[in-house]
Amino acid sequence: MKKQEFKAESKRLLDLMINSIYTNKDIFLRELISNASDAIDKLYYESLTNSKIDVNKDDFEIRVEFDKKKRTLKISDNGIGMSEKELDNNLGTICESGSLLFKKENEKRDEIDVIGQFGVGFYSAFMVASKIEVCSKKYGSDEAFMWSSEGMDGYSISPVKKENSGTEITIYLKKSDEDFDYDKYLEEYELEGIIKKYSNYITHPIVMKKTTRELKEGTEDEYEDVEKDQVINSMTPIWKKNSGDVSEEEYDNFYTDTYYDYEKPRRTFRNSVEGKCTYTSLLFIPSHTPYDFYQKDYEKGLSLYSNGVMVMEKCPKLLPDYFSFVKGLVDSPDVSLNISREILQEDREVSLIAKSVEGKIKKELEGMLENDREEYEKFFDNFGLQLKFGVYNDYGMHKDDLKDLLLFYSSKNKKMVTLKEYVENMAEGQDKIYYASGETYDKIDLIPQVEAFKDKEFDVLYFKDYVDEFAIQMLREYDGKSFVNISKDDVETGSEEDKKALDSENDKFKNLFALMKTTLGDGVSEVRFTNRLKKHPVCLTSKGNLSIEMEKVINAMPTDEHIKAETILEINKDHPIAEKLKTLYENDKDELEKYAKVLYSEARLIEGLSIDNPTEISNLICELISK
Ligand code: ADP
Repeated sequence: MKKQEFKAESKRLLDLMINSIYTNKDIFLRELISNASDAIDKLYYESLTNSKIDVNKDDFEIRVEFDKKKRTLKISDNGIGMSEKELDNNLGTICESGSLLFKKENEKRDEIDVIGQFGVGFYSAFMVASKIEVCSKKYGSDEAFMWSSEGMDGYSISPVKKENSGTEITIYLKKSDEDFDYDKYLEEYELEGIIKKYSNYITHPIVMKKTTRELKEGTEDEYEDVEKDQVINSMTPIWKKNSGDVSEEEYDNFYTDTYYDYEKPRRTFRNSVEGKCTYTSLLFIPSHTPYDFYQKDYEKGLSLYSNGVMVMEKCPKLLPDYFSFVKGLVDSPDVSLNISREILQEDREVSLIAKSVEGKIKKELEGMLENDREEYEKFFDNFGLQLKFGVYNDYGMHKDDLKDLLLFYSSKNKKMVTLKEYVENMAEGQDKIYYASGETYDKIDLIPQVEAFKDKEFDVLYFKDYVDEFAIQMLREYDGKSFVNISKDDVETGSEEDKKALDSENDKFKNLFALMKTTLGDGVSEVRFTNRLKKHPVCLTSKGNLSIEMEKVINAMPTDEHIKAETILEINKDHPIAEKLKTLYENDKDELEKYAKVLYSEARLIEGLSIDNPTEISNLICELISK
């Protein structure tokens, strides 16, 4: 019989498994058992729509057996089975989740995390096996085949005899060495522990032959070892158990095992709802941002069950995008078992449940914000960005639902505050919500305009995420107070007299500014004096709806669209440079042009913008300071 090669990428995953330094090898059993369970589910689903398939739900089982002499471990199921072609396709090629692992293969440290985080499937058995045989008979077929492999060399498939349909996997364990004791997988007690830990809630019975000491029949004090089939897993879904009977640790384990997370969840909440729709939900908020959360291919969704049987593993409709970080499941008797994915999207029951689940999540978050602020801030650090996207997306349709869940950094309190808290603590006479944008809090702190504001005892919210300003523009106001970017040209904080004095000063020197503006060309739409900078000589402000930060964001996007915020170069009227400019205007207009260019470049740099002509500017600076 011909030996076949593994596909190239499968080979590399295989190599990784065979030589794995991953310490938690136990998970291979979880992988094989969940494959077995899936195979049973597949057969069961098909039987619902295909009258030719005659199965009895109670006959389904997954069996785990070991043979100490042969040093083999066997996992078998009476599920759908695989044809010759399926054996070749499914086990000769890497699985989806495996390809993820393979991408990260070069980084040893990550490898470990990744194995723990994802199901790596069938190949994980090579962590413990020197040889694997998969005997399978597809339901409805008369032929059975055996796939066999000793690892890197490839695999072969040959016909075999097998009575019942289903799959039987035999693992020939590696030899134990000082690094690892593979013989532990031949111990009843060890196997039972691993099954309970990882596969307790598999909905089909996992059966093992167990030896118990029993009283010998017909005697009163003689005992004998009796082998009996025993179901190891609890099978009752954790969310169907009495709340009081489930410990926090059990929920945590369920979460980490089901969602392949290495950290327990930040929040676990379970709800039972009856009324317009009836369901139980078990939901989790992870305690860290999944590595792919902000990537395009992150799949949101909750598992959907109908009376304990899984209908769909990830039903996206059950979660709005802004709560896409929530993991968990919904179990409802109202959902039909053999509903197709397409119909599911339109299903009224599912829509009702989704709406209700959304309300529960919101309530949970509000509760956390109110009663456990520290936890909420950590949560917000992980997923706040998503909530802000939620405010902004769908043309602001959900902004009112989400606005009170937002946190922003407050310059005055040096910590995160809600908009409600900001408004409650506004200074006397303040009727606007002030904010400033920049790359980091430290950098925002150094923006010249911010300094003047802090002096006035006004709190300023610092925006460092690019979505912040977009979200806030969508909100427009909070509690009747509008949002004002303090880098905007029309922000007023001074008295009427100050304003009048400034206006007249600006009017007086309008020719000076006109010349500077001509020198700077399209770069700025206006040049003028300001009285809001304390020590700093210059700043750049923006006019209209588009701020300088938003210009940066939009221009960084991979589109052809390039936009320019309308900017104003403001010069501190009380800074010595103001006098210098006035003098130059009278005596040396050429020199004034050079000053204009240098000051404008300074203002751009402070804003974190680049300058178009760095060589010219650096030569100019040198020329000016050499005088
Ligand atoms: P995954 O389960 O992530 O798809 P695996 O590598 O674990 O990846 O399995 C590959 C495929 O092999 C499965 O998708 C399934 O089609 C098939 N398979 C594995 N184990 C069994 C089994 N016990 N019975 C039937 N098919 C199986």
